[in-house]
Amino acid sequence: MHSSFDVVVVGAGIFGLAAASELALRGKRVAIIDRFGSGHPATSSTGRSRGIRIAYDHPFYVTLALDAIRRWRALEDASGEQILHLTGQVDFGLDNKLAAIAAAVREAGGVIDELDSAGLSRKLPHLLGAPEDNGLFHAQAGTVLSDNGMAALKAKVLAQGVASHAPERVVAIEPGNPTLVVTEKRRIHAETVVIAAGPWSGALLDELGIVVPLAPSIAQVTFIAAPELVDQPGIGEWGGDGEGLGGVYGHPVPGVGYKLAFSTGQEGWSPDVSAWQPDLQEQARLFAWLDRRMPAFPRQVQLAQRHPWTMTPDGDFIVDRVGPVVLACGCSGHAFKFGPALGPLVADAVDGKTAHPLLRLDRPSLRGRAAADDAISR
Ligand SMILES: Cc1cc2nc3c(=O)[nH]c(=O)nc-3n(C[C@H](O)[C@H](O)[C@H](O)COP(=O)(O)OP(=O)(O)OC[C@H]3O[C@@H](n4cnc5c(N)ncnc54)[C@H](O)[C@@H]3O)c2cc1C
Repeated sequence: MHSSFDVVVVGAGIFGLAAASELALRGKRVAIIDRFGSGHPATSSTGRSRGIRIAYDHPFYVTLALDAIRRWRALEDASGEQILHLTGQVDFGLDNKLAAIAAAVREAGGVIDELDSAGLSRKLPHLLGAPEDNGLFHAQAGTVLSDNGMAALKAKVLAQGVASHAPERVVAIEPGNPTLVVTEKRRIHAETVVIAAGPWSGALLDELGIVVPLAPSIAQVTFIAAPELVDQPGIGEWGGDGEGLGGVYGHPVPGVGYKLAFSTGQEGWSPDVSAWQPDLQEQARLFAWLDRRMPAFPRQVQLAQRHPWTMTPDGDFIVDRVGPVVLACGCSGHAFKFGPALGPLVADAVDGKTAHPLLRLDRPSLRGRAAADDAISR
């Protein structure tokens, strides 16, 4: 089968769906192709929930998160489904990180409050505080019900007339004018190809001679049965207090439990594994962290899951253009919250606009090697 589009998007995770939607809005004829199908357990954009916060130490991400909250709300209105459960977030840990976050949030026009040890205990009664502890609280944070968000965005993309093929794997891309995209079932010509293939992006880009330091790794999330905590704020621990696994983050998920996870992934991702089993040793390390920091927190595990993410050396995403290829990858474990707000970044690259310096392919930190780094340290 032969066909022709303005843009082919490879990958229908959150990055690809957001890109396809914005490109269709800008009048482009778009096809989106996914090897497994949106939100499959082997992909990054799977599962019930993701944390959302505007608390970043760079105003670019604060502004993007504020835009994302507006766009998620619009998707809630259009779909009639709840996507955001915003209960706020308490940040604690390294003082210099907290100071940088507070400054960046305020610079971008967001609201965030400093907490002393008493304030921290009031917001997060489970946290075992010390008198010298302090933290931050902001209200525009909490939980994205990610499966609802994915379903709403997918429905929007289909309603916009985007051609969708899944499960169907892209097996070759031949850059040219036009570029040829070859799948297991068809051949498609396109002016531009967006690579939004999550952990598989590195291999596709390698084939095109675009060498990018991307490091897929596997990360675990644990949902604790705790319906009484559904309106508690999310948490973000900045620093390495988590048993050598970075800090711990978490948020309440209505109907499921309170989700807790270490912010660092583990090596061992393989492109051909289609489901990941939970690691019981990591669960034991999470309980040891709870014993130290939140001893009164409930312990009954409702669900534990492992999923892949894809680190860049600096924890910033990659959205940039090389000839007819646009890169939309390197999620670094924190892209989901931005959801529909990622679309305009990718569409701008397709339209030939210069990418934001943080996201560019020629930024100095991409000359190094990627590490399975602390994903929420950005
Ligand atoms: C455990 C965990 C916890 C996280 N927590 C948070 C959080 O709290 N907050 C937050 O904001 N973010 C979080 N993230 C990060 C977030 O989930 C990711 O940043 C985001 O889902 C990345 O989406 P993506 O579209 O880049 O990749 P993916 O969702 O993996 O999408 C890529 C798609 O490409 C397809 N594909 C691959 N190869 C091909 C091919 N050859 N042909 C066709 N299709 C192909 C795949 O099937 C897949 O569907 C977390 C991630 C994990 C794993």
